[in-house]
Amino acid sequence: MVALSKFFYENVRNQSCQSLKLHDGNCLLYLLKETPYFALANFKYFLPICVISILMKLRNMNKQKLRHSLQYYAECSLVCTAVSCTIQFLMCNLRNVMGHFHLYTFIFLPSVIGACMMNLASARLRQLLTTTLVQCNIQSFLLRRRNPIIRLIADSKHLQTFSFMLCSAVILQGKLLHNTEGFWLLEPNLEASKTKDANYTSNKCQLHSETSCTRYIYEGMQKYFLVGLALDVAKSLTGKTENIVKNQSGIWGRIKNIRIGSMALLTAYVGIYRFLNCFLRRKFPQNQNHNHIASAFIAGLCYRISPQTNLFCYALVQAVRTLWSCLKIEHSNSKNQIMRFLLGVPFEKILFPLTLGHSCHLICLKPEYCCPLTASVTNNVTNYKANHVQNIIAKLKQNVMQVE
Ligand SMILES: [Zn+2]
Ligand SMILES: [Zn+2]
Repeated sequence: MVALSKFFYENVRNQSCQSLKLHDGNCLLYLLKETPYFALANFKYFLPICVISILMKLRNMNKQKLRHSLQYYAECSLVCTAVSCTIQFLMCNLRNVMGHFHLYTFIFLPSVIGACMMNLASARLRQLLTTTLVQCNIQSFLLRRRNPIIRLIADSKHLQTFSFMLCSAVILQGKLLHNTEGFWLLEPNLEASKTKDANYTSNKCQLHSETSCTRYIYEGMQKYFLVGLALDVAKSLTGKTENIVKNQSGIWGRIKNIRIGSMALLTAYVGIYRFLNCFLRRKFPQNQNHNHIASAFIAGLCYRISPQTNLFCYALVQAVRTLWSCLKIEHSNSKNQIMRFLLGVPFEKILFPLTLGHSCHLICLKPEYCCPLTASVTNNVTNYKANHVQNIIAKLKQNVMQVE
């Protein structure tokens, strides 16, 4: 196996866009011709997200909400189109300006600069994309297994479960105390946090005023059972299950292959969380915060039912974000200069370009360290250009190995 830099220096460096078969003809004309396709690919990629968000709000939908959803859809698609066009433009032009490709100006630098187009987007979209990309990068680190600690985490489902339990406690407690942003599997009961300890009478959990505890737990589990089932069916129909049994193509084969991992995980998660919350509130009415942390922590055990690396990585990202938001809220009036400086650093704006650059670099040059999520995002957003470059590099690598 040749080192990547040596391989690049010998096989890619001195080629042109045309000889490398990145595209035919003039670079600028190619970009102009491809732009509508980039836009089309992005509008297509974000369509399901738009439809789901409209469906979820269908019950109390009005004109304003519909317009808001459509605006968000257009924003996602157009900003990502701008990012892909800039990357394509820079890939060609950095080559033309410098006279050769360089390992880091080939994909990495164009992606880092292209990602700056994301500043055109709203904070909400930037947050969503940064979370996804950081998650992708953590997954890549787990796949690369560079140092013993990462190898230990990647191999041990017990350690992952324990970390997931901690993340679950941090995220849910953050949501309860400060209503922190970001999607999580379930939302804590915010109403309950408003009632003071003094109002508590023993043997009553006061988490839900009108229904009984059993009813409250049952309703939660029923809702998440359906959400999980829908998720599992969607996953298997779109072919994203990890272990699709071979020789079972077609709809019937896919239906046979439905795995109920997400359904079991979500139902058990909400069930244990609500049960413990109710139970502990009745038993120890004085320690509301401790009760909540304990229920969220123990509910995290459900990760063991269906351990999925992408869920684990998402939980890590979300937990760090929650801690950061809590720190910001609690120290918003701090007089400490260093703290104020640290809280003012726009980590999101720094992280997004770096993570995008790293993801694109990996998918084109080292796809073996690339998780399926990274491949899906980068390919769909760039109209499969990432896949195109990846194939070119793979073919070159194969030729080199044959010669050796
Ligand atoms: Zn070119
Ligand atoms: Zn209850």
